[in-house]
Amino acid sequence: MTVNEELIARPLLSDDPQAPLAIDGGAPVRDTPWPTYDKGAVFVEPEDEEAAIRAIRSHLFFRYDYRAYAETECGQFEQELCDYFGTRHALAVTSGTAALALAIMAAGIPAGSLIACPGFTFVATPSAIVMAGCRPVLIEVTEDLHLDLADLRRRWTPEIKAIMVVHMRGFASDVEALADFAAEMGVPLFEDAVPALGAELNGRKLGTFGLAGGFSTQSDKSLNSGEGGFLLTDDDALYARAVVLAGAYEGRVARHFPDGPHPLDTDLALPLLSLRMDEIRAALLRSELVRLPLRLACFHRNYDYVAQALADVEGISIRQPVAAGAYLGEAFIFRVPGGALNGNAQWFADALCAEGIDARNLGSARDANVRAFWNWRFLFPGAEVDEIKAGLPVTTGFLEDAVDVALSSTLEAADCDHLITAVRRIARALDDRAGAVSELPPQ
Ligand SMILES: *Cc1c(COP(=O)(O)O)cnc(C)c1O
Repeated sequence: MTVNEELIARPLLSDDPQAPLAIDGGAPVRDTPWPTYDKGAVFVEPEDEEAAIRAIRSHLFFRYDYRAYAETECGQFEQELCDYFGTRHALAVTSGTAALALAIMAAGIPAGSLIACPGFTFVATPSAIVMAGCRPVLIEVTEDLHLDLADLRRRWTPEIKAIMVVHMRGFASDVEALADFAAEMGVPLFEDAVPALGAELNGRKLGTFGLAGGFSTQSDKSLNSGEGGFLLTDDDALYARAVVLAGAYEGRVARHFPDGPHPLDTDLALPLLSLRMDEIRAALLRSELVRLPLRLACFHRNYDYVAQALADVEGISIRQPVAAGAYLGEAFIFRVPGGALNGNAQWFADALCAEGIDARNLGSARDANVRAFWNWRFLFPGAEVDEIKAGLPVTTGFLEDAVDVALSSTLEAADCDHLITAVRRIARALDDRAGAVSELPPQ
């Protein structure tokens, strides 16, 4: 039996249709915390700890000391990333946001330029654009929360000098079509592949479709060093500039090109932003990279199990990938169509929380989720929320209808069964609730 078959063969929890929901005072589906990284549910093994300890004991914490590039943890990590992703270059840095900002700056996008990005992403994406001195232009997303190419075409202006696509919550955007469009417009495409580290679209790793891809190794991502990130590119000049900007001063950029001259005339034309990775984290990440395929298989197994078991549930619409298997599987997102109007999407998330499963209504009016663009107030000084929402009405509606549940790679079959049972029960109750709401007297 494969792991998948074993999981699917397990009987579901008893599912008494008469039992009241936890939100209505019934017994919850589970009484232990939902496993998430911030409660310590991480994919770390003793060999990873040992790797970090070895680096600590070496007392060589800085990547640019007397050693040759290939002898450092950072250098070896970068080489292993190149092998894993099939790219010419990788640069380890301090965060995903730093990787994205470095990509924009190193590509030579002039400060003040507009850069298109989706209206559904983590706040770090528009922040990286701002950090690079540019201005984000927000684009609508489709009902499956992927950047909408038709809307990008509609909003296009010649002032847009780059496109930043995001594989949000681990789902691939239609990056092949977006790369074609970027080529047609003559601008570079960057990928915020942070939430999709290791996921593929049609057999190709996300983060390798554009001029450069940015990744994070913050604790919630597929590789976890607390904080950290890296940049991938095949472009020699972009890479060399990113290396210098990140903090390879006084000719240290040459160490990244051990086989020949580096492509910069001088490294003094660029500021030094000190966004380097250290040796301890690189050692930890190198060890984790060995077991990344196993972790990816766990994500996929859990996601596929949950999504298959809930595919027939009425009243919810599960986020669909742009191609078969084109997701990491770190999050289960569905919409409760019309759920914003009658409050059902917020209620669904609340009901899941009451059952013991952490869930959020992405467009909640209650919690200021930084994945909803109207909460990026730094982009809209002085504007009211309703005004901001009016700029992307389609995305607003989809986010207000959406419910988001994190799926840790450490979930066990019983955890998945709890989620399945809870969603089924709550969706059933949705019918009654919808009836109750429509019987309310008009206001
Ligand atoms: C986590 C995340 C980032 C930021 O990564 P940091 O390492 O925390 O800077 C950027 N973009 C997306 C879509 C993310 O999910």
